Amino acid sequence: MSRILAIHTGCGGPATDEDTIYPEQQISFLNDEAFTLTCFTCLDEISDREELRLTEVNPQ
Ligand SMILES: [Zn+2]
Repeated sequence: MSRILAIHTGCGGPATDEDTIYPEQQISFLNDEAFTLTCFTCLDEISDREELRLTEVNPQ
């Protein structure tokens, strides 16, 4: 099953906890009207979806 990890393009690290990956089509925070996310890696506030790169991962 395909799963999605959100990468913060500003720092290149994961924007969410590395254990927090999302089933495809169920990335709830991307659908929120007021999108904000605190980057897990650099702790910057991400307010623009364009700052995220979504990567498919295959759990081991
Ligand atoms: Zn970051």
